[in-house]
Amino acid sequence: MIDKLAIIGVGLIGSSLSLALKQAGAVRQVIGFGRNQQNLARGVELGVLDAFADSIEATVSDADVIVVAVPLGAMRQVFSELSAATRIDAVITDVGSSKGSVVTAARDELGARFSRFVPGHPIAGTEKSGVEAGFPSLYENRRVIITPVQQTDQDAISVIDEMWRHCGAVIEYLDVEHHDKVLAATSHLPHMLAFALVHQLSHLNDHDEIFRYAAGGFRDFTRIASSDPVMWRDVCIANGDALVSLVEQYQQELDRVKAAITAEDADELLKLFSRAKSERDSLIGNC
Ligand code: NAP
Repeated sequence: MIDKLAIIGVGLIGSSLSLALKQAGAVRQVIGFGRNQQNLARGVELGVLDAFADSIEATVSDADVIVVAVPLGAMRQVFSELSAATRIDAVITDVGSSKGSVVTAARDELGARFSRFVPGHPIAGTEKSGVEAGFPSLYENRRVIITPVQQTDQDAISVIDEMWRHCGAVIEYLDVEHHDKVLAATSHLPHMLAFALVHQLSHLNDHDEIFRYAAGGFRDFTRIASSDPVMWRDVCIANGDALVSLVEQYQQELDRVKAAITAEDADELLKLFSRAKSERDSLIGNC
């Protein structure tokens, strides 16, 4: 049971965590901080927060666990404010979609408290954002990846491991670099493709008509292009190296498809599509 949980950044991810822990009876009090007081007041109305404060210091001073759930670009500033404000034994974690930049910022800014910092990433989300978007079952049967480093205290890891288990999540451990490579391929690249496709089509002269006739496949493929632009801008900057290399590989694949279409090479197209279908069917199933 967490006695007092502080959430910095009360949006989709932070509010869902609070609702899940409250539903599980695994937290006594949740206090939030963000830039927008209306958002925080709404969090109290919705039962996400028990209270909110107007400074990070007041939010975290007597908290047992502090969850940083702001966009990646805001993490360093938050860590710098946390370093002097938290109890020395408090456990700090984050939920950022990329881990290398977060661990570097935490190491730079948290000083003696770095050993109490447990980097984490729930592999769950929707294209919605803000406190209204949160719901308690978001993490049920979803993976949460924890990426501790050599200095991370074992008891701090246990606190965060247990916190996510109370939400119904399945915990996995990866090292930071491996996490960023895998997530660049499975999450960050697909988001870039969806954003780029919708952006491309929005420039066509007859784009109103194109979107009017959009069918299921277009909706499925582009749903994630409705995700928060600030969050995804920050992911691109934070995980740029891994992402650029994958974008280059994807460009080569598109060139291959283009060449086969231009050459009317039906065999090559069938081979490529068949291999992709069988890979996806065996990895993810028919959903
Ligand atoms: P979100 O719904 O936009 O929530 C982020 C919250 O952070 C906002 O409510 C915002 O509230 C607050 N915020 C922004 N800048 C801040 C700052 N400088 N100081 C304090 N609060 C600040 O975003 P989210 O989807 O929950 O994402 C949060 C984090 O989770 C990101 O790091 C993201 O990489 C990670 N993540 C997201 C997903 C996903 O699918 N969405 C999945 C896994 C991990 P105010 O405007 O009131 O400040």
